[in-house]
Amino acid sequence: MKPGDVLFTADQIARRVAELAAEIRRDAAERPLTILAILHGSVVFLADLLKHLGSAVHVELIEASSYRGGTASSGQVILSRYGQLDLAGRDVLILDDIVDTGHTLAAVRKTVEAMGPRSVRTCVLLDKPSRRKVAMDIDYCGFEVPDVFVVGYGLDYAGRYRDLPHVARLEGADD
Ligand code: 5GP
Ligand code: MG
Repeated sequence: MKPGDVLFTADQIARRVAELAAEIRRDAAERPLTILAILHGSVVFLADLLKHLGSAVHVELIEASSYRGGTASSGQVILSRYGQLDLAGRDVLILDDIVDTGHTLAAVRKTVEAMGPRSVRTCVLLDKPSRRKVAMDIDYCGFEVPDVFVVGYGLDYAGRYRDLPHVARLEGADD
């Protein structure tokens, strides 16, 4: 399997990321924001978003996995690296590359809410609404995608293709 059709070019992504950052900054209304980014898929998105957000931002990282190397979610989400997090009283923005079934964001959100934050919002670059299994409010979304497996701009297939500057469909994954 290899990357095929380009769904979003690097330019389209750059423009959309700048728009999302403007919305996030406006809603934060001068209050410091804590971005909790979900590893590994969100790292490219996180880095680009940060460049537009200004300085009142803390960054924390959490690791979530449910994929075990394939293209279908197992439904069971394993979180790690959150032992040291202190999110009490913080305005938290959970950041991920893509929301698919919703299991990952739901699990992270539950963990965050148990820490007593002041507010919790969610931001994803991509949303695949047709595959949702868990109802989930997404506050900021870059683009909707159809039910195809995508790679690039941080999203991998078995550890590969995170380095592509665009988002492409993974050829052979869905047909
Ligand atoms: P969910 O728990 O919502 O089903 O899945 C969320 C996670 O699954 C994302 O953080 C991402 O790592 C992975 N994922 C879901 N759909 C895709 C996709 O089309 N491509 C890639 N590379 N990862 C995906
Ligand atoms: Mg992920």
